Order: sequence, then structure tokens, then C-alpha cells
Amino acid sequence: MKTPVHIAVSGAAGQISYSLLFRLVAGDLFGPEQPIILHLLEVSQAMHVLDGVVMELQDCASPLLYRIETTDDPRTAFKNADYVFLVGARPRGPGMERKDLLEVNAEIFSVQGKALNEVASRKVKVLVTGNPANTNALIALKNAPELGPENFSSMSRLDHNRAVSLLAEKCGVLTTDVKNMTVWGNHSTTQYPDLHHAKVKGQDALSLVERDWFVDEFISTVQQRGATVIKARGLSSAASAANAAIDQMRTWALDTPEGDWVSMGVLSDGSYAIERDLMYSFPVTVINGEVSIVKGLDISEFSMQRMKLSEAELKDERDAIRHLL
Ligand code: NDP
Repeated sequence: MKTPVHIAVSGAAGQISYSLLFRLVAGDLFGPEQPIILHLLEVSQAMHVLDGVVMELQDCASPLLYRIETTDDPRTAFKNADYVFLVGARPRGPGMERKDLLEVNAEIFSVQGKALNEVASRKVKVLVTGNPANTNALIALKNAPELGPENFSSMSRLDHNRAVSLLAEKCGVLTTDVKNMTVWGNHSTTQYPDLHHAKVKGQDALSLVERDWFVDEFISTVQQRGATVIKARGLSSAASAANAAIDQMRTWALDTPEGDWVSMGVLSDGSYAIERDLMYSFPVTVINGEVSIVKGLDISEFSMQRMKLSEAELKDERDAIRHLL
């Protein structure tokens, strides 16, 4: 057996974690040879619920689970952490404005960024799922000056997976036949799922589907998928979000396959005229754990308009919490 890796999860008593944690102890992140030590973070009011989750994790009798630690202190949770899933976030309460939501989450993520800065592994990979995920990730990274942008990403993979699956269904192929999908921008309804570079069995996706389907159906279906799931289930898409978190972390740790890329929220370096210092979803490759934005793609005017719309939303979010950066 290998040396155990330390995986920290915040919001560990919540819905997404209720799926994520059981996938982790089943070996779905790094396979059946990689033992794990779980560091579970919750707010103090939810610690009793977390006790129940811990009992169930123990009752899985997983050979991979070496130890579970629970805490309400980020500095304890993140100590020596190699992989961190920041899932916990404050949901919108009654009468709460968007700005209030940004502020209250910004507080949480600035505290967590500082804690990561102090105690996490210097090679830590921090994946932010809790919404507003892109801006929360920006705050965490700005509060962790001894770590770098390469230590942080925000989750775009659920949007990416939704786009891949929808295109595969439309073309009557398997999801593995779809390559080079891109979702640009914020994890919100301004995101832009883009088929201009996507391939289906090596052919240009846009040569296989009607333009009207792409413009009028595909984009909005992906953008609205979360709300559609809530309407159908009465609950948010927790299992697919947990699956996406595992997919994104696995790709980040174990690289993208040759010839393909994934969408990931990373700190903009100014590529594609997207303002620097925003966490923005780009197409990326990962080689030896190093994330690089795919450069040089041709961007149509149609695409650029949508990419700029999402950029503008992220700038507004950043302006609302600038004092915490
Ligand atoms: P969930 O586990 O369902 O969701 C957690 C976060 O993920 C939310 O911000 C949510 O955003 C986001 N999310 C949900 N679905 C998706 C999706 N499909 N794609 C991307 N993101 C998604 O929430 P719960 O309320 O069940 O659990 C949150 C837990 O976090 C609670 O137990 C709470 O106590 C804890 N918490 C912990 C903190 C900490 O550890 N310091 C701080 C704050 C909260 P959205 O609201 O938009 O669905």
C-alpha cells in the first residue's frame, strides 16, 4: 500500500459531501491502492450531523480509510492537507441580496484561505465547489500569499460534463467519443458552453448538429441544468456535483488525456482578452499536475460576446468583495 494522502472536505455534513465522502472511501479518486486520511470540516452547529456521517463512513469498512478527523477549525482541518474540497458555503437566506451572499461567503473563504496559507501542504490542490465558486476561489487564493494560483481552481466540471453528455446524446455516441468541450466563464447562468472546438469521433461538432440547436437549445439547457434538476427532484444536483468534483480533482492530479482538454476555473492570465485576476473557466490541459490554459483557439464574435458577458458578471462579483482580497 502507498502512503496515505490527506484529503480535507468542508461542508462535510451537507448534501454534496454525503455523496462525495462515500465515493472517496470507495477509492473513486485515486483507485484501490491509495489509502486516505479524511479531515472533515463543518460549522459547529452541524457537528452532530457530521457524527452520523462519520459513523456511516466507518460502517463501510473501507480498506482505504486510515483515519477520520472532524473539526470546526479550518487550521486543524487543513493541516498537511494534500487535496482540499471546499464544498461548504452559506446558502441564500430569506431577504438576502446577492451582495449579502457574496459578502458572507467571502468572509468564510478569506478565513479558509488564511488557514490554508498557514498549514496546508505547499503542493496542495484546493478545489472550490461552494457557490459563488469562482469568486470564493479568488478570495481564498488572495488570502494565501505563500501558496500560488496553481494551488487553486473552481469547479467547472459539472457544467463541462453536462455539455459533453448533452452533445453525446444528440449525436447518438458515447461520452468518450466527445473531445475538446469548453465551458467559458462563471459557474452561473452566464457560463458559455461552446461547441466551436468540440469534436465528435474526430469530426467538428458543429458540422454534425444544426446551428439553431446549438444557439437556441444547447447553450441554455446547459446553463439552466441545475435549476431543471431542482425542479424535478425538489433538491439540488448533489450526486452529479460530487461526481464532478472527483473528476476535476482526478484530472488535476493525474493529467488530461493526450489530445483532449477539460474546462476548469483558473486565475486568468489575460488569455482571450479576459481580464487578469478573475477565476474564469477556460479550456485547460494538465501535464504532470501543471495546468495550462489552451492557447490560440479562434474565437468568433458570437463566442466573444458571451465570454465577455460572463467576465462582466465576475468583475461585478469581485467589486462587491474587493475589500477582502
Ligand atoms: P450542498 O452540499 O448541496 O452544496 C454546497 C455548495 O455547493 C453550495 O454552495 C451549493 O451552491 C454548491 N452546489 C450545489 N449544487 C451544485 C452544483 N450542482 N454545482 C455546483 N455547485 C453546487 O449544500 P448543503 O447546504 O447541503 O451543505 C452545505 C454544508 O456546508 C452545510 O452542512 C453547512 O453547515 C456547511 N458549511 C460549512 C462551512 C465550513 O465548513 N466552514 C461554511 C458554510 C457552510 P448553491 O447554493 O448554489 O446550490
